[in-house]
Amino acid sequence: MSHHILLVEDEPSLILTLEDRLRAEGHEVTTAEDGETGFQLASDQRFDLLILDLNLPRKNGLDVCRDLRQRGVGTPILMLTARAEVVDKVVGLKLGADDYLTKPFETMELMARVEALLRRSPALQGAKANTYQFGDVRVDFEGAEVTKGGVTVDLSALELRLLQYFIEHRGKVIGRDELLDEVWGYDATPVTRTVDVHVAAVRQKLEDVPGKPRHLLTVHGRGYKFVSGHER
Ligand code: CA
Repeated sequence: MSHHILLVEDEPSLILTLEDRLRAEGHEVTTAEDGETGFQLASDQRFDLLILDLNLPRKNGLDVCRDLRQRGVGTPILMLTARAEVVDKVVGLKLGADDYLTKPFETMELMARVEALLRRSPALQGAKANTYQFGDVRVDFEGAEVTKGGVTVDLSALELRLLQYFIEHRGKVIGRDELLDEVWGYDATPVTRTVDVHVAAVRQKLEDVPGKPRHLLTVHGRGYKFVSGHER
């Protein structure tokens, strides 16, 4: 089964080795060479696994890990540490990493860890991704509660499902037909205009300036796209 893996690593030779090896196993690999870029990618897109180096330019691996978990991003994280950073790996696990590997390591050992985490991936994500945060909005999926700036926002069950679908598919363009199929689900022939009305309602409740959305974006002629928005 093919998975999408985000590799956050700044060592060129290691990037080449790992990309080759992971692709040879049939995985799709996206690479970020600094912590800030890695953090943004992991916030805005859905990955099955993050391989995260600890010592990175712009934002270190520990900060990336902590900030992702604070945002409610539940993607499993395999942290790579240098031998001198033993203390940090303990901190890394406390901050929400799922496993770590000390450099230098055998590629075979890394692949074994990767496969183990990918097998557990859906369970891990389910356990951690109960909340998600963007801007000053916090969504608690389990408690079905949404707050903006700490104040509870009333979303209908449908609006919450719509928001959840956007968050789960963040960074991707989603057509109105797909939303009707996946969020409305039944074939009561709702028209695509229905989608626009509900998207507008969610914007009205959650965007600072509903007419100029920063998160729930219109992609002309194609549909909508959700972004967490902190990259601006
Ligand atoms: Ca490094």
